[in-house]
Amino acid sequence: MKANAGIVELFSEAEIAARVQVLGREVADDIGPDILLIAVLKGSFVFTADLMRALHRAEVRPQVDFMQLSSYGSGTQSKGRVEVVRDVGDPIEGRTVLLVDDILESGRTLSFAKQNLLSRGACEVRLCVLLDKPHKRVAGIEADFVGFTCPDHFVVGYGLDYAHYHRELPFIGVIEGD
Ligand code: 5GP
Ligand code: MG
Repeated sequence: MKANAGIVELFSEAEIAARVQVLGREVADDIGPDILLIAVLKGSFVFTADLMRALHRAEVRPQVDFMQLSSYGSGTQSKGRVEVVRDVGDPIEGRTVLLVDDILESGRTLSFAKQNLLSRGACEVRLCVLLDKPHKRVAGIEADFVGFTCPDHFVVGYGLDYAHYHRELPFIGVIEGD
């Protein structure tokens, strides 16, 4: 049986690679070279690795740090409450932050993170997400940079998991039947 049996491809490896290169250029043109990139773990780690190399090609030299936030636990339902599981280590005060996440859905996670970083002295926090799922938004927040608009399905691959599986898939797909 193939390792990705039962998962229907939504965005191919080639499509993602092409879009991420363009996204790097869009970020570079808009916010300049001196940024602190903060990736929201765990889902964004593959996207972040590709995005930071796209930024390099666009002549940006980001500093990179991570924060881990709880959102969905191991299921597919948002818990509605966000907590910091692992905090940023780099100084935030006075920095232009590019906050990078895999998916913007309800907006709870990123509005919490953005407020948190602003309250700690970031001078600006811009949001970059690989996927925008606009159908279930509850917080009044939009991303500044979006890879793809995503249909209202639960997606996996390219860092995104279902119950801690499927992060290793090089494409983004939907579990069959969802
Ligand atoms: P929000 O707080 O915007 O509702 O939640 C966004 C977070 O929920 C994302 O960072 C991601 O971790 C998770 N999430 C939302 N939709 C999906 C999905 O389709 N697949 C996966 N794997 N995670 C999702
Ligand atoms: Mg997440």
